[in-house]
Amino acid sequence: MKPIRFLWLFLFFLTACFTRSAVEPQAQQTGKDIPTLILVSFDGCRYDYPDLANTPALDAMAAHGVRAEGLRMAFPSKTFPNHLTIVTGLYPGHHGIIANTIYDAENDRWYRLSNGAVSDASWYQGEPVWVTAEKQGVKTATFFWPGSEAAIGGIRPTYWKPYDHHFPFAQRVEQVLAWLDLPKGERPQFITLYFHEPDESGHHHGPASPEAIAALEEVDAQLAALQQGLEERGLSEQVNLMVVSDHGMTSTSRDSVIFLDDYINMEDVMVVDWSPILALRPKEGKEEAVYQALKGAHPHMHIYRKGELPEGYYYNDYPLVQPIIGVADLHWSITTRAYFDSHPNKPSPGAHGYDPAYSDMNAIFYAQGPDFKEGSTAPVIENINLYELMCHLLRIEPAENDGSLEAVRDLLR
Ligand SMILES: [Zn+2]
Repeated sequence: MKPIRFLWLFLFFLTACFTRSAVEPQAQQTGKDIPTLILVSFDGCRYDYPDLANTPALDAMAAHGVRAEGLRMAFPSKTFPNHLTIVTGLYPGHHGIIANTIYDAENDRWYRLSNGAVSDASWYQGEPVWVTAEKQGVKTATFFWPGSEAAIGGIRPTYWKPYDHHFPFAQRVEQVLAWLDLPKGERPQFITLYFHEPDESGHHHGPASPEAIAALEEVDAQLAALQQGLEERGLSEQVNLMVVSDHGMTSTSRDSVIFLDDYINMEDVMVVDWSPILALRPKEGKEEAVYQALKGAHPHMHIYRKGELPEGYYYNDYPLVQPIIGVADLHWSITTRAYFDSHPNKPSPGAHGYDPAYSDMNAIFYAQGPDFKEGSTAPVIENINLYELMCHLLRIEPAENDGSLEAVRDLLR
């Protein structure tokens, strides 16, 4: 290498170094100014469960922060659709996760919670708050959240975990606290934490059953451990903490069942999703006959053609919504006689997914921290507005969404 060329390279290298060091302290400063936000989900925690349980950690949040009388879901009130709505501010019909089970006929592929599709970004149309944050230089971490395993728009949280249902709850909390102990440049400023209870116990034993209440008390104890960890670090007054759920729960029984095969030949349809939201794909040439046979067939099952669903469902335009959708009334289940007869314990005593207008589908909302009011109660709020709220708390510019900050501004100081 000629000396003169070497000199140029050396100068270039020096310039690069100085530019970097000039930018870095700024990024760190930004980091210092934003209160950390922790978003916790207790899956399937109906709005009224805490009043039936011993929940000192949630009670402390209500005393020092805000509790809403309920958190209203988007349609359908299922787990993946609403966890994605919370983090994108979009209705399921806009963020693409329209159900826990989706069929893409054009590409003959399925989105299921069990087939690895959850980590395939092509199913997700919205921008989760961790992507918005990462794009704007805010580090994020997820100890589980639906959608966090996919590189949406090519971006994952800085720290994330493949879902492991059996990962001990207490160790999830320990990891969140360990993230907070990272040095400033590495510490995430937005963190999610997910627990699959009391949903599981609510399904198996019924809503508000002793088992579901005990499961809530168990996750409340995890929240207490998180609160204590924050206090030990002197962060209690500096961290914004939100505890939400993705839906409520209602009772179901073998006395309230709708049998599809009483009305149609099951050979004529592909059943993409069952209950309480039925998604049917009739075989070619059978669509009109299936629709006519089901429409009005059962007083507790409302049958719609795609495009004719109620406006408030925001479900008419998404390409992967199936041609015929059935919506069961609260407490009702959709099945077939063959399945019913061979499964004496089905339906399970608890279910969700129903029209979010039923208060049984409402979930919990608690928030506490420097940006939230203290000891305040709010009326029922909609989960569609939480993305805007979180972007506000993180001082980042939200992506286009269906929510509004105005709708939840009363929660703030
Ligand atoms: Zn569930």
